[in-house]
Amino acid sequence: MKKILIALLVFLVCVYALPVITLGAQPQQTSDTGDKKEQNGDTDYRSAMDIWNDTIRNMMDSAQKSDDDNSLSDEPEDYDEKTLLRVLIDGEVREMTVRDYLVGVVAAEMPAAFPIEALKAQAVAARSYMLHKIENSDPSSHPQGAQLCDDYTHCTAFFDIESGGRELWGDSCDYYAERIRAAVEDTDGVVAVYQGESIAAVFHSASDEMTEDAENIWGVKYSYLTPVKTSGGSASPNFYGTVVFSQSDFREMIADVYPSAAMDGHYSQWIGEIRRSQSGTVLGIVVGGVSIKGTEIRTLFGLNSANFNIEFKNGEVIFTTVGTGHGVGMSQYGAREMALNGSYFDEIIYHYYSGVQLMVKN
Ligand SMILES: [Zn+2]
Repeated sequence: MKKILIALLVFLVCVYALPVITLGAQPQQTSDTGDKKEQNGDTDYRSAMDIWNDTIRNMMDSAQKSDDDNSLSDEPEDYDEKTLLRVLIDGEVREMTVRDYLVGVVAAEMPAAFPIEALKAQAVAARSYMLHKIENSDPSSHPQGAQLCDDYTHCTAFFDIESGGRELWGDSCDYYAERIRAAVEDTDGVVAVYQGESIAAVFHSASDEMTEDAENIWGVKYSYLTPVKTSGGSASPNFYGTVVFSQSDFREMIADVYPSAAMDGHYSQWIGEIRRSQSGTVLGIVVGGVSIKGTEIRTLFGLNSANFNIEFKNGEVIFTTVGTGHGVGMSQYGAREMALNGSYFDEIIYHYYSGVQLMVKN
């Protein structure tokens, strides 16, 4: 009986204490956010913790607005919605919101069926790269006053869901379009920064067990684009690739670009030393006595990645590759794997871009 009474007492204390604890925590959180805003003054950025406070505040705001029609306003509040861009698409400048631009970028760059947290990480990477590009590009790098273009070799690819979504996704168009919009809207204004600057948030499809150092690919050091462990790449249909050439075609293609390469002897003499990074990328390969970068070989022979092996067999030259893309920054299949294992978008960003912070533009 005594035990039952004690249990009842504990239960009652818990029931009465819970609302006090919950209610007690909320004003404190709001007040912290207010303090930070005051301290930061007019700055564009707020701390990463505010992302979550924002989410709570937005939910509260939405609930409040639906209760009070008088508070409704047509003016957009969200950074992505109220910020306009001039983007060169198919040779014509289009003015659009950051939100519409990012929806097109995420649709172009990541499979829409990927987990939502991976799509959100892609949206954050795309927003960060967009700002990095705008802040660091010569304004004359695009015609007609455009700030960005849809050429992925220059800026980022863009896919217009409105005009092409139905053809790409068929009956699932609305479903996939909604997922992508949600990924962009749920991360509104969130940007990855390093030392206060929006980062060059490059990404690739899939890499082996480690991502690559930017310096090994482009010869430029970025503190946040260094090798990190990754997994899940083998889910990519192109994770392992094979490209075959006849030995004579191989010799001709090399000779066209590197005329000093000596390939008159037996094929077993054609290939010399191969140097690799710790991530597996071929940094340099000696062909016919000429040292060639792995990335140049990748381009010349159309390989999926510069992480390759080369083999001579039955009159053929066989390249086998691991991974797809340059291997630097976020691995999209790695992001997918992390999301499937329960990681949130911010954890994915923090993992693939070393030492960055997440901030919210407003
Ligand atoms: Zn461009």
